[in-house]
Amino acid sequence: MTSSWNNGYLSGRFSFLFTFPVLHQKRALMIIFVDMDEVIADAYQAHIDIYNQEFDAQFTAEECMGREFWQCVPQEHQQSVRDHTHRDGFFKNLKVIDGSQDVLEALSKKHEVYIASAAMEFPQSLREKSDWLDQFFPFIPWQNRILCGNKHVLKGDVLIDDRSKNLGFFDGRSIMFTSPHNTEVKTFERADTWRDIADKLL
Ligand SMILES: [Mg+2]
Repeated sequence: MTSSWNNGYLSGRFSFLFTFPVLHQKRALMIIFVDMDEVIADAYQAHIDIYNQEFDAQFTAEECMGREFWQCVPQEHQQSVRDHTHRDGFFKNLKVIDGSQDVLEALSKKHEVYIASAAMEFPQSLREKSDWLDQFFPFIPWQNRILCGNKHVLKGDVLIDDRSKNLGFFDGRSIMFTSPHNTEVKTFERADTWRDIADKLL
């Protein structure tokens, strides 16, 4: 009697246990944070394009490897380049980095993907970045967009970023996405393209 009562009670009381395998299959496997500028949005080339147009120059990214773009231009023009990111429209007009849309969409179907951008450094960028994501990454919902200050608060499995200052404090797997300014950094696992990201994470 006791045994059959227990069996009945347990199978009812703990029947949710039998749903665990199904829930587990649906859960995202990893929490992945993805930076915007220089990872999915080509800010470096935008700096070059603006400078070349305004100063009638012909800079290319190839001749600036290992340096910030402002370090490539004559000293009297450096502040002008550093001010680009404070201009209205700068972040709104950035080109999408090749492959990022397809790979991120595929990653989003398998994992929990968050966009994480230190956008508060440029307060006018918040609306532009949100609109830009709506246009080019509509499959990333607003709940998965973190426009923040310090990224040290991020806790998850993977961070894809182009800056040592963000990757160095991350507890999970830090992947440096190659940008002209970081080509000399040897500290982190590196991805040169979104094809590399797909090979590593998909
Ligand atoms: Mg960045």
